[in-house]
Amino acid sequence: MPIEFRLRDFAYPVSIFRLRRFLEESQWKPLDELIGYQEELLRRVIPQACYHVPYYRRLFDAHRLKPRDIRKTDDLVRIPFLTREDVREKYEQLRADNAKRFRPVEAFTTGTTGTPLKVLVDRPSNILEFAYYWRHWSWGGYRLGDPFAELRWDYFRRRPETNETLYKYQAPFRRLLLNSISLSRERIGEYAAAIRKYRPKFIHGRPSNLYCLALFLRDGSFDDISFRAVFTAGEVVLPEHREMIEKTFHCKVLDHYAHMERCMAVTQCLHGGYHINLEYGILQLTEQRKLDDGVIIGRTVCTSLHKMSMPFLRYKIEDVLEVFPAQRRCPCGRTLPLVKAVHGRVRPIIMSPDGRPITTLAAPFQSVKGVRAFQFVHEEPARIVVRVVRGEEYTQGTEETLKLGLRKFIGEGMNIDLYCVTEDSLERDEWGNAQMFVSRVQPR
Ligand SMILES: [Zn+2]
Repeated sequence: MPIEFRLRDFAYPVSIFRLRRFLEESQWKPLDELIGYQEELLRRVIPQACYHVPYYRRLFDAHRLKPRDIRKTDDLVRIPFLTREDVREKYEQLRADNAKRFRPVEAFTTGTTGTPLKVLVDRPSNILEFAYYWRHWSWGGYRLGDPFAELRWDYFRRRPETNETLYKYQAPFRRLLLNSISLSRERIGEYAAAIRKYRPKFIHGRPSNLYCLALFLRDGSFDDISFRAVFTAGEVVLPEHREMIEKTFHCKVLDHYAHMERCMAVTQCLHGGYHINLEYGILQLTEQRKLDDGVIIGRTVCTSLHKMSMPFLRYKIEDVLEVFPAQRRCPCGRTLPLVKAVHGRVRPIIMSPDGRPITTLAAPFQSVKGVRAFQFVHEEPARIVVRVVRGEEYTQGTEETLKLGLRKFIGEGMNIDLYCVTEDSLERDEWGNAQMFVSRVQPR
């Protein structure tokens, strides 16, 4: 999830700088010190959840738990899982009664399995987010104030006057925003001209979008565009996408893996290691199995350490991870533990008949009420089937809003068929998770 820079983000620079300085040092500290830090934060989050969040107040009562029972990360197993279903249905109960103190803002996510959710993010978690991005980007050579580019859609769609513009340069942040929706072979020259003009040193975006940018630039023989590092997020980076991006832009791809719920984060270093950011949240695995060389595979369960307006404890995200044993070291020297692989989160590139990659299918679902789950099936080159699992608030109006929204993002020339289905009929991956995207069309 990209950071949205707003003036209020700079209203507490002292906290951001303090955390940033801490994160610079902590990444080299012994593992037990890092776990000690997690537990220190945990002992702040648990009383907040137990005394101020109605959902947890009841849960702790029902299980006869007191905050003093949960002092170590290992104690967390005493708390039942929080599921996405719980978050959807008990949103109000999950909101702390003192949430206002933490300046909460609503945020929307469709997750990785096509189940829309509303959550709260707040000031402490914004400080974390800022400092965390800053540290990760510094692994690729970024220094605060360096010019950078972002390939994204949301900025342009939220402002009607910029819907059709290809880019926007924000001079105070030295940030070049490139519109991912309008990306096409025909207009690639305009993107190249904007990059040449503003000379960003770094670029951030979804790997499938950055792959298309790289591919179109190569096909158009714009071979003078390079960056110091490319930062990717939001989906698994396929090896062929990584190769194309790195070859085109003459630099490394540094991927990161996190969620809007802000409970965990994994960031990749220049040596390719995917490091678990222990300072961000507690990542645990359930349904664990041992693989070769001590690697553990399991479903992700995580606990937020910074979000106070809506803390999540033992939140079951459903993504499947493979984690290296704790003693495994990365050549970069950081002590943060390593993830071997993230499963799921694959997003096929869907090309419209006019050669434009459709990069933002899920956007219309983000804030529509009454949708429990959805799935896109690219059935034929010019036909997308949208499967919707209705919730209680689903009406004819919901359907109209979705169809209009989808048309805006998909454009003309592609047939969209929307069907309401039951949850059981969604196609699932080998881990049993519903897939947001299914493609039956060979990539061109
Ligand atoms: Zn490393």
